Amino acid sequence: MYYDQEINSVFEELGVSEEGLSSEEAEKRLEKYGENELKEEEKVSVLRLFISQFKSVLIIILITASIISALLGELIDAIVIIFTVFLAGTLSFAQEYRAEKAIELLRSLTSPEATVIRDGVEKKIPSKKLVPGDLIILQTGDRIPADARVVKEFNLKTDESSLTGESVPVKKSTEALPSETPEADRTNMVYTGTSVAYGRGCAVVTATGMNTAFGELAGLLGTIERSRTPLQDSLDKFGRLIGIATLIIVAFVAILGVLYGFPLFDMFLWGVALAVAAIPEALPAVVTVGLGLGVRRMIKRHALVRKLPSVETLGATDVICSDKTGTLTQNKMTVEIICVNEQLLKVTGVGYSPEGEFFKENQEFPAEDPHLQALFLGAVLCNDAGLFKKDGIWEIKGDPTEAALVVAAAKGGLHKTELDQEYPRLGEIPFSSERKRMATLNRVEANSVSFPVNGLVAFSKGAPEVILESCTKIFHDGEIKALSPEVKQLISGKIREMADQALRVMAFSFRPLAEDISPEKVSSGERTAEEIEEDMIFSGLMGMRDPPREEVKVAIQKCADAGIKTVMITGDHKITASAIAKELGILKENDLTLTGSELDSLGDAEFEEKVERISVYARVYPAHKLRVIDAFKKKGYVVAMTGDGVNDAPALKAADMGIAMGITGTDVSKEASSMILTDDNFASIVAAVEEGRNIFKNIRNFITYGISTHTGEVLIVLIAILGWQILPLLAVQILWINLITDGLPPMALSVEPPDLNIMRQKPRNVKEGVVTRREIIAGLGIGGLIALQGLIVLTWALDRGFPIEKLQTLIFTLVVFSEMFNAFNWRSDRYSVFSLGLFTNKPLVYAVMTTIILQLIVIYVPFFQNAFGTVPLSLSDWEVILPLASTTFIAMELVKYFSGRGHKENKYEKTKSD
Ligand code: ATP
Repeated sequence: MYYDQEINSVFEELGVSEEGLSSEEAEKRLEKYGENELKEEEKVSVLRLFISQFKSVLIIILITASIISALLGELIDAIVIIFTVFLAGTLSFAQEYRAEKAIELLRSLTSPEATVIRDGVEKKIPSKKLVPGDLIILQTGDRIPADARVVKEFNLKTDESSLTGESVPVKKSTEALPSETPEADRTNMVYTGTSVAYGRGCAVVTATGMNTAFGELAGLLGTIERSRTPLQDSLDKFGRLIGIATLIIVAFVAILGVLYGFPLFDMFLWGVALAVAAIPEALPAVVTVGLGLGVRRMIKRHALVRKLPSVETLGATDVICSDKTGTLTQNKMTVEIICVNEQLLKVTGVGYSPEGEFFKENQEFPAEDPHLQALFLGAVLCNDAGLFKKDGIWEIKGDPTEAALVVAAAKGGLHKTELDQEYPRLGEIPFSSERKRMATLNRVEANSVSFPVNGLVAFSKGAPEVILESCTKIFHDGEIKALSPEVKQLISGKIREMADQALRVMAFSFRPLAEDISPEKVSSGERTAEEIEEDMIFSGLMGMRDPPREEVKVAIQKCADAGIKTVMITGDHKITASAIAKELGILKENDLTLTGSELDSLGDAEFEEKVERISVYARVYPAHKLRVIDAFKKKGYVVAMTGDGVNDAPALKAADMGIAMGITGTDVSKEASSMILTDDNFASIVAAVEEGRNIFKNIRNFITYGISTHTGEVLIVLIAILGWQILPLLAVQILWINLITDGLPPMALSVEPPDLNIMRQKPRNVKEGVVTRREIIAGLGIGGLIALQGLIVLTWALDRGFPIEKLQTLIFTLVVFSEMFNAFNWRSDRYSVFSLGLFTNKPLVYAVMTTIILQLIVIYVPFFQNAFGTVPLSLSDWEVILPLASTTFIAMELVKYFSGRGHKENKYEKTKSD
């Protein structure tokens, strides 16, 4: 047990030093203890997945019936039926297998990482490679990757609600506890599955994988349920409806057949085959494959969807609420303007290189100026970022805002690495989005830097109005003076002036502390932040530029064209935020900007009335995001919201689409999200929306294709039996049609590229569902047409007195060809295939060619003629069938042309780009 030992003995027992484990030792331990993983969710075995394809009652009946018919002497028929069913099953197995793979891929891509110290250096490794003895670094928002004993902490608090159900964060300490301390009170331990709610620390891993406290619990919790997408659910319902309708029709037809004198058993077999063919059981799997393919494409566009249903939601997004820093902007900060001693200074230099000068109205300003030095000292000490040279290039570590300050100070000759040694940090109050500032306690005695006070000093930095509010004095003209309201006003003016130029402004202050204030008590939260951060001495301002991301402007315009509203939500100053929002095209003429406190003063009704006009929220807390989501949702909008911090998690969960940042986001925010941006870029959200829309369009199209083909088949059979007492298709032929129409073409349709104007259409109405009246009418219409073609061939063949085998072969072939033409129709429900480009969906071209070759084999190769009851067709037969089948395509092209949906949008595109 490690909680009751001093840190030294814990280190000794676990065989580790402050340098962490060596890589070799870690390797050895990994072999000994195994990977740091909770028991794997049971994988669906390939065999089980395969067998499950044949579990449907109808298929079992069909197979049994064909076995019986084999016993009765119809051997070939039975073999063909079983073979066809087997082939169809294999095909749908392949689809489900791919769907499973898509889900697995998602899981592997979202596997977490941990920061460890190994061989004396800090690095990120996959959490599953952690071993007992590893030293791990914990930061706010991190998911704790293993059970560990805390060895260093600054205000470390963890959220253990996943273990205990208790939602108040637990304060952690490093002190050894009495042996009898119950597990729940061992506050020097952190546990797998919990997360860092506040502060930071370092801990040594004591248990991994199933040996952790959570591991035991995971065993109890069992496997996690596989979630189904709403789309799959609604398709299941839809499928069931069609299934029942089909069964009724089929039963009716079969009974009629018997009454007309067909043998009872033949009719039974035939009826079951028709039912198997007409019921769209494969649909949910095909949809999953469609969604899975979308997920893969989105990964290439830097959006990692964590849950399949999100793909559907993405396509329907009406509003995207985005953070500013890093998502809309580059998060590459450079300090451009400094304000000290009431004067504005320009800073030169680019990038992170610490070379640059200071200018006051075109005159070089001395870096040795005591005010500048005092400002810089606070900026580097009250700072967690780092600046270092790697392979001759200056790089930063940590938060870019803080790094910019380190770079600026280095331009003035103050280097963080040296000063950290000279003026060690004794305590800290970490930054939080709510407080908008941070403070550190340092001992300032060595005085290599000119500084007005000595001893224990609190340095604070943060949002300028917050810092200014806490100041009662100012370091001005070499002295510490009272901060008069006039000077405060003057400083506020300077802040506004800087913010107007879209600069992010940070203010700095300090204060000597009485020696009796124990820094440990500050770090542990015993002395409140307010006690420390009061009566401060104002030292100056720094304004930094964070250029907008190049591609974001285009992406925002794309959203506007697509009927999607973009909203900026930021913790930054109102003026800075508005200036950047204007530059990006988010804040338009009649749009409003609202601050967090203005939002607080609005009642719900008042806010909802305005919400559509507000484009920028500034100085907000994460909690405000919830109100914004709520208001939009109440109005029926589908809302996407970005977030990165721990406190963003509730908003990410509440939004229809929670989007976390892959690079800067905390583990907690990632876990709460539906999608992660691997490049933190707003433009990737828009790319994902485009993919989402496209996938939905493809799914809708191949479902409509399915409706039309099945309707065609069932109608032909029904009418031929009712009108002519003829079986127009044999059971095996029906199964064959089903195999080839349900097989390859839908897969090819699911990879159809986006319509040209997919981002110029209004967002889809989510309430509509996948299959709307329009799809049903279109499906039934084309299905009816295919049936009509069948009847024309039927009467024509009867007129000529063709034998029944020839008549069936003709109808069989006609249906297959008609459906191949039909497959092209559903590449788009609004654009002509010619405007899409005949060969732009190559998989479809190959799928259709394969199908045609297979069909020709079935008609012309004697072995298959026997099996499928076909006869060879002559040229004159083809002269009838092909033109007829092509009307399926011509009719849809005409509908597309006359409905005008396609060219209306094309025109729109023209006027837009003009
Ligand atoms: P966004 O929400 O778009 O990411 P943001 O980064 O400005 O914007 P927060 O991180 O919540 O939002 O920061 C809010 C404010 O707190 C900033 O505008 C800045 O004034 C201040 N601030 C940011 N980072 C620090 C820091 N490391 N130390 C002190 N103050 C900070």
